[in-house]
Amino acid sequence: MTPLRIDLTADEIPDHWYNIAADLSTPPSPPLGPDGQPVSPEAMAAIFPGPILEQEMSSRRWIPIPEEVRQIYAQWRPAPLVRALRLEQMLGTPAKIFYKYEGVSAAGSHKPNSAVPQAYFNQRAGTKRLTTETGAGQWGSSIAYAGQMFGLPVRVFMVKVSFEQKPFRRSMMQTWGAEVFASPTALTQAGRAALAADPDCQGSLGLAISEAVEEAAADPQTCYTLGSVLNHVLLHQTVMGLEAKKQFAKIGLYPDVIFGPCGGGSSFGGIAFPFLADQAAGDRQARDLRCVAVEPSSCPTLTKGAYTYDYGDASGYTPIMKMYTLGHNFMPPGIHAGGLRYHGASPLVSQLFHEKRIEALAVPQVATFEAGIQFARAEGIIPAPESCHAIRAVIDEALACKATGEARTILFCLTGHGHFDMASYDRYFSGKLEDYDYPAEAISESLKHLPKVG
Ligand SMILES: *Cc1c(COP(=O)(O)O)cnc(C)c1O
Repeated sequence: MTPLRIDLTADEIPDHWYNIAADLSTPPSPPLGPDGQPVSPEAMAAIFPGPILEQEMSSRRWIPIPEEVRQIYAQWRPAPLVRALRLEQMLGTPAKIFYKYEGVSAAGSHKPNSAVPQAYFNQRAGTKRLTTETGAGQWGSSIAYAGQMFGLPVRVFMVKVSFEQKPFRRSMMQTWGAEVFASPTALTQAGRAALAADPDCQGSLGLAISEAVEEAAADPQTCYTLGSVLNHVLLHQTVMGLEAKKQFAKIGLYPDVIFGPCGGGSSFGGIAFPFLADQAAGDRQARDLRCVAVEPSSCPTLTKGAYTYDYGDASGYTPIMKMYTLGHNFMPPGIHAGGLRYHGASPLVSQLFHEKRIEALAVPQVATFEAGIQFARAEGIIPAPESCHAIRAVIDEALACKATGEARTILFCLTGHGHFDMASYDRYFSGKLEDYDYPAEAISESLKHLPKVG
């Protein structure tokens, strides 16, 4: 029988994360404060603990994964690498399709890969409480779980619309002991100001970030956590790609092309960077490797954005970072892949894209659900709407292989299962799911409001 699932033992969980900052042709551009100067470590220390800040700014290639973190990882890692043979047969493609399945974590996605070390390093540094924001609830549930593993109370500001529309994500966070508030709240100045302006304010991710950061900045024992975008988050996620490399080595294969959905870029970086390390080291297997970030055509950050300094949040509260952005004022259409509705992209992913070391592709919403359903019918697993973006690109690549007869090896990151997103599948089945036009006007309007630098 063809082995369909390549497993590793707990001992084979990587003991270092890979830091791609060590292999960039120019050092990453630093985040800038309101005065246009690089943000000082002291200013960042108000909201992040020392070890996380060190990782954020480090250029060391390999960073050790603490034993305590590996032990919690072992609850679900190493994650399986699976050959999608039934999907290949359904498509009639000579391509070999593999997926790294991250839906096996307690929270059902890749996000705990960073939530666990973030909680660990905070606890070690003496932090007494964590704050964060969450939109659809994937990150909030991951940090609630991780906080529980290390005995840290977690406070989550959840965008009010999601709080009301996704009650089960909220119950998950409560099950893991987190306090969850519908943002805007009366607990912070940012929240009170928003409520004074509009008592029925439905909230936004930018506003929820402002609330979580404000609380962390005001209390020396409280720190803030973020689920994507920042360098340390991508660093932690490389555990996925490092495992995948060991799994491919076991079967004597190497991917020709890697696809991942891209919101803030943490799972894409996590799966792709360890393979780009081979390319940087001149490994012949990796010479022609292509890595493709897949984004929604309604929120086309890499494919249609500008590469420039912009705020990380909608309200202009955070430092500005050099990244591909649609402008911090851009409000993406209400697509069902909540994790991909972000105006910017990770500075590391942005720099690699700018240097043409990776590619990007935008796909429309309805076609992503078609792909996800085709995958579920072949392979059984119901993918998260975010993951469906990568699956669309994978199926198109496999069909292109069928046309040319090329037997390429394709890898993609199946970032999570869709069990909490069935309302979105319902909308697809009842024909209510729409494609949004590429919002050209909204993007060009929003790009007029970029912060001035220098
Ligand atoms: C959050 C999320 C994403 C997108 O975030 P990245 O930081 O780009 O990885 C993708 N898939 C799932 C399941 C998510 O929860």
